[in-house]
Order: sequence, then C-alpha cells, then structure tokens
Amino acid sequence: MFCAARAKPERPPYAGRAGGYCGPVDLCSFGASALPLVTTAIHAGHELRPELAARTALDDRTRRREEDPFTDRITAAGGTPVVVHRSRFEVDLNRRRDEAVYTTPDTCWGLDVWRTPLTDEQVERSLRFHDEFYADLSAHLDELARQGSFVVLDVHSYNHRRDGVDVPPAPRIDNPEINVGTGSLDRGRWGHVVDRFIEGLGSHEVAGHRIDVRENVRFEGGHLSRWVHERYDGVGCALAVELKKVFMDEWTGVPDDRQLQQLTEAFALSVPLVLGELACGSV
Ligand SMILES: [Zn+2]
Repeated sequence: MFCAARAKPERPPYAGRAGGYCGPVDLCSFGASALPLVTTAIHAGHELRPELAARTALDDRTRRREEDPFTDRITAAGGTPVVVHRSRFEVDLNRRRDEAVYTTPDTCWGLDVWRTPLTDEQVERSLRFHDEFYADLSAHLDELARQGSFVVLDVHSYNHRRDGVDVPPAPRIDNPEINVGTGSLDRGRWGHVVDRFIEGLGSHEVAGHRIDVRENVRFEGGHLSRWVHERYDGVGCALAVELKKVFMDEWTGVPDDRQLQQLTEAFALSVPLVLGELACGSV
C-alpha cells in the first residue's frame, strides 16, 4: 500500500514502489473507522513531486485556486478519512486515467501548466499514482462491501468569484453553497440516502443562515463517484459533494476557520442520518 495509514503510523510511507514519487510528503493518507463510510478529499493536496515542481509554469497561488484547499478538514466529520496530499496538477484522481494528467490548456481551465511538455515517462509516472490510489481504495472498499452497503462522501470545492474580487460572485441560483452530485447514482436504489443527506445538511446553519444544499445544480460528480457506482453496483453509494468557496477567499487562499468548523460540524451531524438510512436499505 502506498498511502500512509494514520491508524498505523509505524507503517513506512510510500517510497520506492514507483520510482520518482518520493517527495516531501506522503502521497495520501487513509485513516481508520469501523463505520461503512469513507470521506475523501482527493483534490485537497498541493504538493508536486520534484521533477514536476521544477517544470510547472504556474505560481503557487494560481495552482491553489484550482485545487480544493481545506476540504481535508471536512473528512474529520466521520467515517474513514482519505486525504490526498498531491496536487491534482500532478494527476487528477477525479478524472479517468486517460484524461488524468493535464497536458494542454484545454484540459485545465485554459492554464498553461508546463514550461515544456511533459515527457511520456513523466506522464506515466503520474499515472502510476492514479493506478495505485484506486488499487488502495479498492482494497478498502472491497472490505466494506463484504460487510454490506456503504457510502462514500467525495468532498470537493469550487470557485464562485472567477471574474475577480471586485465584481459580484456567480449568481446564487446556479451556485448552491453545497452541490450534491448524483449523476451516476441509481436513485431508485439510493434516493432515500441522498434525500436524507441533503435534508440533514440543509437543516444546519453556517455563518448565520441555513446552508443552501441542492442536487446536481452545478455539478453531477466525477470519475471517483462513477467508479464507485460501476465497481460496487447496488452496494456503494457515492455522493460528490462540492462546497462553494464561501468558507475562504479563493483569490488569497485565506480560510474562514469558523465557517469551516461549522461546516464540518454540520457534516458530522448528518453522518448518523445517512448511516441510519443506509441501514434501512432500499425502500
Ligand atoms: Zn475537486
């Protein structure tokens, strides 16, 4: 296993399994939990392995703006936390393998990521992380699946001030504070779980008002949730949760710790509702 396990700190961090990955931090970390719930923050990371850090044309702030900073904090809400420390600019785990490395601007918000094009070997080294992340996640979810159905909360965040801080943010009507993506989910099987989650989260207040939680308004989910539904058909229920970056300044990267704490608490209070619904099965 290449990810460092928080539950077993004696386990050596991923090093040497795929040459070139060894960097200043572990690639990702899996926590431990007895609950049939996994909470992932696969875009929380910012690190690039050295050969890519030396090659990127983007400054830190630009790269951070397209990543999902602080979503790792939400994973404390419950279940097994899975936090990826590497940047999506190394490999995007929420895209299919053949689209997971950003090679041209049209694949990543028009950004020219690299000073010179990546070599095939560099791309392949990045893709090994994709392979091994999903191998590790499979090992964990296979075990859960043997015991019954489970839920994956795949937590992301999105920008709503792309035009700058001096102009109005993107309209609220099309940009919920929390978008629950269920595009690949079988609603006949899991609709009751989705509804309970949305209802539960939406009953809490953050920054003095009820959280605006809606389904499939802005996003319908990416590769990770599709992969869960394909591999664990009828057993795994994945909700792609996109948080609007109202809990931080998306241009400076400065978080609002109080809002983040409130959000995490709202998630934590919604977890028992989701698990209770899961235990009820399909109705
Ligand atoms: Zn994301």
